[in-house]
Amino acid sequence: MIQAQIERIDKLEQQHILPKEELITLLDGQNEALSAYLFSRADAVRRVNYGTDVYVRGLIEFTNYCRNDCYYCGIRRSNPNASRYRLTEEEILGCCKEGYQLGFRTFVLQGGEDPFYTPERIEHLVRSIKSQHPDCAITLSVGEHDRETYQRWFDAGAERYLLRHETAEDAHYRILHPPELSLAHRKQCLWDLKSIGYQVGCGFMVGSPGQNSSQLAEDLLFIHELQPEMVGIGPFIPQKDTPFRAQAPGTLEQTLFLLGILRLMLPQALLPATTALGTIHPKGREKGIQAGANVCMPNLSPTEVREKYALYDNKICTGDEAAQCRNCLSMRMKSIGYQVVVSRGDHLSRRSK
Ligand code: SAM
Repeated sequence: MIQAQIERIDKLEQQHILPKEELITLLDGQNEALSAYLFSRADAVRRVNYGTDVYVRGLIEFTNYCRNDCYYCGIRRSNPNASRYRLTEEEILGCCKEGYQLGFRTFVLQGGEDPFYTPERIEHLVRSIKSQHPDCAITLSVGEHDRETYQRWFDAGAERYLLRHETAEDAHYRILHPPELSLAHRKQCLWDLKSIGYQVGCGFMVGSPGQNSSQLAEDLLFIHELQPEMVGIGPFIPQKDTPFRAQAPGTLEQTLFLLGILRLMLPQALLPATTALGTIHPKGREKGIQAGANVCMPNLSPTEVREKYALYDNKICTGDEAAQCRNCLSMRMKSIGYQVVVSRGDHLSRRSK
């Protein structure tokens, strides 16, 4: 049995995809021995492409206002206990300045879909950051918008966009979201972003309520079709004020297994070891890197607001200053034989020759 699974992993490494049934069999067969083999292959593939470099992105969670009501998310609009905040443009520029001094060359602006932050205001923000830090890449992660808006931000200088698809199966999407949100629209946004020329990141939560291996296989097939430059996955973690408060969290083991699979599917992808992974296990991010990830996204938001961006419970690093996070991460990566590098960390296909 294990031999057949090992052959499946080898086939995935060679062909970068498997038929759905085989993906399901592989996912269902996850155990310690198989994981060890998968991670050794994933690590080898990552080393061929990116060596032992770990890219850092300075994450700025600039608003927790959101017009959406996703059932899993702590900043959903109908959570009356969320303490709402939004940073001003000046405050965001302050975070970037501090981040630049600490060696960050990519800033990720993430937030809820906050009506205050209109397309014009975000465009202005992108232009301001670009004019102060022309050598930095800007990643936006502000949800679903129309194509014209995405184009406008791209023209202003944003080069990357993160929009997790959350799940590639319609029935599962319905379990996680209220009726006004649709998988078709979310996917369309990803295709729009890609055709505009963004480096695109999709992704999903591992262990979200109602998820099974068949849906995970659908996720992998969708990712293969989209061929994104980045894929963000992390465990689902319940948040106490959401309808999913009593659901079980996703596991470390399954998240790592999926990271390994993704590395073999997309050898050149930028795969973050997420904060959620670091939240469910004290060495989660290190283990994520060892399973095939090559990106970390420490927080640059001011410490006063960190706790308020409470997508899920017990989020790590809410009390640490940006410099502490940066140093802690460098030490963590060094302890496992990898190094944080000062660079924009573009996808290999986008690097200037
Ligand atoms: N509003 C933007 C969007 O929709 O893409 C960006 C912000 S959204 C809060 C960022 C991501 O957080 C989501 O794509 C989701 O996968 C993740 N997230 C939300 N709630 C979570 C939870 N309870 N556990 C783990 N991840 C969660």
